[in-house]
Amino acid sequence: MDKKVRVRYAPSPTGFLHIGNAQSALFNYLFARHFGGTMVLRIEDTDLARNVEHGEESQMKNLHWLGIDWDEGPDKPNAKYAPYHQTERNDAGIYQKYIQILLDKGIAYKDYATEDELKEMREQQKANGEAPHYDGRWYNASEEDIKAAEAKGIKPSIRIHLPENHVYEWDDWALGHIEFKSENLGGDFVIQKSNGLPTYNFAVVIDDHLMEITDVIRGADHISNTPKQMAIYEALGFDHPHFCHISLIFNPATGKKLSKRDANTLQFISQYHRHGYLSEAIFNFIAFLGWSPVGEQEIFTKDELIKAYDPKRMSSSPAYFDQRKLDWINAQYIKKMDENELADRVVTLVHENDSEQATKLAALKLSDEDLKTLLVKVIKIHHRDATKLIDFIDRAWFYATILDQDLSYADFDQLEAADTKKVLEGIKAGIQAADHALDAEEYGALIKQVGKDTGVRGRNLYFPLNITFTGKSSAPEINEIMAVYPSETTIALLDKAIAALA
Ligand code: GLU
Repeated sequence: MDKKVRVRYAPSPTGFLHIGNAQSALFNYLFARHFGGTMVLRIEDTDLARNVEHGEESQMKNLHWLGIDWDEGPDKPNAKYAPYHQTERNDAGIYQKYIQILLDKGIAYKDYATEDELKEMREQQKANGEAPHYDGRWYNASEEDIKAAEAKGIKPSIRIHLPENHVYEWDDWALGHIEFKSENLGGDFVIQKSNGLPTYNFAVVIDDHLMEITDVIRGADHISNTPKQMAIYEALGFDHPHFCHISLIFNPATGKKLSKRDANTLQFISQYHRHGYLSEAIFNFIAFLGWSPVGEQEIFTKDELIKAYDPKRMSSSPAYFDQRKLDWINAQYIKKMDENELADRVVTLVHENDSEQATKLAALKLSDEDLKTLLVKVIKIHHRDATKLIDFIDRAWFYATILDQDLSYADFDQLEAADTKKVLEGIKAGIQAADHALDAEEYGALIKQVGKDTGVRGRNLYFPLNITFTGKSSAPEINEIMAVYPSETTIALLDKAIAALA
């Protein structure tokens, strides 16, 4: 790296943070952190009609949740490069200055063609079997024609004139050597719309140049924009940055690019949060969409990823979204995290989440302290089998409302009723004889004692308890589950089960 690395993530606030956006942000972040460079956040908000309310704020919030931060941006301006919103940059006349330079050089020109004319032109080209392109009709237009169009009050757009027989080529971090011929770019293209705003391709070049961006890392959907941007760099006599086009994310079910219409796939970062994925797991998962490290290791902390990141290992093939892998990674992170920290995260999730599970648990209105005590116990039981934080919420709610649950006692039929009765009554007597609420270890000891006293063993000893306290014959760590309940609940559950047995 010869120059000090500066990269940027440049979202348009036309929606909320999608996995594809997060992927671009993440690779820029890894690139900046790996090379000790600067990460810039620039807001490309000139498409006024498509901007959504709170889009920008929500994108920033979700990036923070993911653990992606930036060194410069609207909230952290560096006077040398500010402002960071393209609308503000436009108001400051930044783009206009360069448009004027190109007009003065005769490389850019005004195009007075109306929408209807352009449409007719494209239809004609289609009918002739040609690829649609702007035919250059206003390039070198006469003074009279321009005056006549002005007199009609037509607001022109501004186009850049492309050289003939010119090749735009670059060495892409992900794709290797890429070439486009100037004839294949669809003709002279618009750099300033008739409303006076710059087009994306123009603004992005001016900003990347002025912000001294060394590497442009963005989705492969922008590949065809890159030669156009190179034409602008060349016309202005600027060096262009290095480019890296990240693999797009594909849906394995449809074999097509993941689409916002694929309703069965979670794809907004806020949805992962809401469903109880850990931000660290999502970060890890996304880092493998379009990149892979050397070796077989799959679980990486953020710091490990920063260290291992190598832009030469960016992939050129599609990245398939693998839900099972995501769940597996999340489960690994859950297993690694200690119960206390997990419980704190779940408490926060219960408060800020409007999912069905979180809403039900929040409705019990437990104090934070009681909620956390309950959750620590639940996490102990389900630490190994949970995939998402929401699983703990779901289980906590179930245990907290066990007396209202419609438990099934059907599996009692598989057991010897007399033995089952002895076990349940033995446990009940043990609880009543104690002068305090038993903890999990004490329940474990009590179960063993009852086994000894009654001579009932194995499944005949454990299944009745599983059914009584969970409604299912198989349950993890039944002594731990019993200790989740207050003693009165444990007794009430035993009474219900004994009654069901009769
Ligand atoms: N605003 C563009 C987008 O959201 C940025 C593309 C780029 O990084 O150049 O797709």
